[in-house]
Amino acid sequence: MDKYDIKKLEQYDIEFVWHPFTQMKEYESKKPIIIERAEGVYLIDTEGRRYIDGVSSLWVNIHGHRVPEIDDAIKEQVQKVGHSTLLGITNPPAVELAKELIDICPSGLKKVFYSGDGASAVEVALKMAFQYWQHKGKPNKTKFVCLENGYHGDTIGAVSVGGIDLFHAAFKPLLFKTYKAPSYYCYRCPLGKTYPSCNIACSEEVGKILEKHHEEIAAVILEPYVQAAGGMIVSPPGYLRRVREYCDKYNVLLILDEVATGFGRTGKMFACQHEDVTPDILVLGKGMTGGYLPLSATITTQDIYDAFLGDYEEFKTFFHGHSYAGNPICCAAALGNLKAFKRYKTLEKLKEKIEFLEQELQEFRGLKHVGDVRNKGFMVGIELVEDKESKKPYPPGMKMGWRVAEFAMQEGVLIRPLGNVVVLMPPLGIPIEDLSKLVKVTYRAIKRATEGEV
Ligand SMILES: *Cc1c(COP(=O)(O)O)cnc(C)c1O
Repeated sequence: MDKYDIKKLEQYDIEFVWHPFTQMKEYESKKPIIIERAEGVYLIDTEGRRYIDGVSSLWVNIHGHRVPEIDDAIKEQVQKVGHSTLLGITNPPAVELAKELIDICPSGLKKVFYSGDGASAVEVALKMAFQYWQHKGKPNKTKFVCLENGYHGDTIGAVSVGGIDLFHAAFKPLLFKTYKAPSYYCYRCPLGKTYPSCNIACSEEVGKILEKHHEEIAAVILEPYVQAAGGMIVSPPGYLRRVREYCDKYNVLLILDEVATGFGRTGKMFACQHEDVTPDILVLGKGMTGGYLPLSATITTQDIYDAFLGDYEEFKTFFHGHSYAGNPICCAAALGNLKAFKRYKTLEKLKEKIEFLEQELQEFRGLKHVGDVRNKGFMVGIELVEDKESKKPYPPGMKMGWRVAEFAMQEGVLIRPLGNVVVLMPPLGIPIEDLSKLVKVTYRAIKRATEGEV
């Protein structure tokens, strides 16, 4: 730690770094938390303070930090080659990883296309779906159906199929038009209905759009089971299966964005496996390297892949690629991640932790300003409201979610809210004792922020 001059780091951070999704005016007025190292699920700052990584370093970490399987995989690969391109040639980790991904993916998915970030992999999915129909002799199928409150990343194509007004509004003139179906947001049902008597009417809205416009629709894109950035909104069971059926009926591709839900986060390796649904295109990212390095994948069926085969001069090639696609160090880290899943029986052990978590979360429902508590596996949203009866939200200016995060930080827990929704998304490898601490600290922080009590 003595290597660092902490005062200089603080000064240079403010002087030279522009942080993502951060109001820098506010950031500049505070002392930054500088994470220097980590142990298991604890992040440790330059002053030696320890924090539970309550949102998995923004939803990416899986087994905790400094996992021997991933550390070693990276070290070994570095001694061979740091990077070589996947354009026209290949490398061992990229090949092995593709094989292992296909083994764990829902059956029917056959081909792995690598990119770096989740948003890039979403762009790939959209362009593939678009070009697929061009090759299939249906050039009018160019439009996309997406959901209100959906989030697929911050590049222009990904924002176009997003449904979070706050992010959407600023860039509206740059975005392409889509068909928007309602969110599967039961607590604030956009159709004014109640589950289960609604018979999942929100899925029928997707069906209605397809019935009317399927001849010009290339694909439906959505986050299966949890709209993460939209506020950890959890779909009712059966929703996904219905949407799959509508896509089949109307000859429209289904793109599932599992960038957030993938790699065990919902309790199964992939969220679509809760309903035995296979998408035509599956998008993976975030947890793929266990939270170490940027790597994403767009995984497709044989049918989609085959539509791009042809003689060179037919120009059916998929004209898209990123410089670091299939980077061998990133792929080695991802292989280490999958090895750790097996070695630590991560998914098997998760069941008990989810049960514990769900039991602990019951307590929150009694809090005066907790309107809704929802989760699918290790993705938790606790929605704070000013008034429980009317579900009236806190005004944004009160920054209630942030106040909770601030109190939690004082007790050694790092979380990051989504507006009025307090988010918990710990690493899957978290020990029960730390999970218990995370929940208890969060409970106290909510009580303190909303009721002014300790
Ligand atoms: C985070 C996220 C993305 C974007 O991934 P980046 O790596 O941040 O570009 C896309 N889709 C979903 C569902 C996400 O949660």
